[in-house]
Amino acid sequence: MTANPHTLFAADALLPTGWAREVLLQWDASGCLIAVTPGSACPAGTPRARGPVLPGMPNLHSHAFQRAFAGLTEYRGAAQDSFWSWRMQMYRFANAITPQQLEALATGLYVEMLEAGYTSVCEFHYLHHDTDGRRYADDATLSQALLRAAARAGIGLTLLPVLYQTAGFGSQPPKEDQRRFIRQTDDMLALLERLTPACHAQGARLGLAPHSLRAVPPESLHEALQGLHALDATAPVHLHIAEQPAEVQACIAWSGQRPVQWLLDHAPVDARWCLVHATHITPDEIQRAARTGAVAGLCPTTEANLGDGIFDAQAWRAAGGRWGVGSDSHATVNAAEELQMLEYGQRLMTRQRNLLARADQPSVATAMTLEAVAGGAQASARPIDGLAAGRQADWVVLDANDPLLRGLPEAEAMLSAHVFASHRRSAIAEVWVAGQPRVREGRHSLHEDALSGLAAARRQLLTDPP
Ligand SMILES: [Zn+2]
Repeated sequence: MTANPHTLFAADALLPTGWAREVLLQWDASGCLIAVTPGSACPAGTPRARGPVLPGMPNLHSHAFQRAFAGLTEYRGAAQDSFWSWRMQMYRFANAITPQQLEALATGLYVEMLEAGYTSVCEFHYLHHDTDGRRYADDATLSQALLRAAARAGIGLTLLPVLYQTAGFGSQPPKEDQRRFIRQTDDMLALLERLTPACHAQGARLGLAPHSLRAVPPESLHEALQGLHALDATAPVHLHIAEQPAEVQACIAWSGQRPVQWLLDHAPVDARWCLVHATHITPDEIQRAARTGAVAGLCPTTEANLGDGIFDAQAWRAAGGRWGVGSDSHATVNAAEELQMLEYGQRLMTRQRNLLARADQPSVATAMTLEAVAGGAQASARPIDGLAAGRQADWVVLDANDPLLRGLPEAEAMLSAHVFASHRRSAIAEVWVAGQPRVREGRHSLHEDALSGLAAARRQLLTDPP
């Protein structure tokens, strides 16, 4: 008898209910888990995982093109550098990138994400037009580049074309350097319709990202949400909110309300929504927003890099709020580091430790991994919420023999070391997406090609300054 090719035996696996021993994973030819059975014997011929098996982490917030200038904004340009001076640099690159360069950058980035433990990505995609701001002959050119990049790397994708119309609250006309982002609402709905079959064909999910309240006037927000609902009533909706105090002040000046308050009063926020950042949120807003079932999209390393501030994750969780993590600007691309930074921010704020653990899950790395996978899956609107039958066969195998983990007593301690004591290395041995091994021995099969392509695209952008 030959062994079933779609099986893996794990001495330890992190299931949605917590750690389990002697787990047999079985999946079908489409890459869907059909059985996850703890307490199993290992059938003859079944491969054994090299260490603890973790659910794949969804990356719930990415702007792929921003990978091009990671590392290039870490110097002082003005007397006081801030998010807004960083944004000027970002616009220089956004306005120069070609479709070929975007595809090369995204392919390299998605390979890096897979190697770093992310098995899917929500792409918050706001470059639509050519470098002069004119519509491409094929209006979906840049979205198609991202779809191809995700297919080639083998990462799950939730594509979120961005609606961007104004430069500030009160319908301020867009600026010249926002020319590639601007799209009228009916054009956006036409783009979504156009992208539906392409997304469907590769198992990607399609949603909508109203960029922020400053970039989308109320009537456009309303109209776009109605159009999206008609197209797909379960499609995800992501928007940036309350990332910066200046944005909160401008929203108050415009409407008399803070951004989260305004949104909850004027939009049908529910479990399909992902509120990206939500850094500057009041206790009252936390209570209200958490009750909607929306996910808080936290990007701790980018929020630290940009000097945004620290999200009150303890209050959010205490209110029953769901959350996940994203690598956003890609200054850091590492699922474990996002969790570490999130917990460390809370520790530094309160001078306490292990704040994001739970009574039923005292290991902080375990509790955070489970919550970030569940919240990330919800924001992705894909069946990727952990190792259970009916979910996609996405997981990460740690190498129990890696020097970072060797000698630790059990899987829970190994995950803790992976999150909190990785020494900027990785103990990831394998990463599987939809039942396919995309990363082996810590390396993606396209590692050389994809990262050379990324480097070449970056070099071109730097040699040929915008
Ligand atoms: Zn963002």
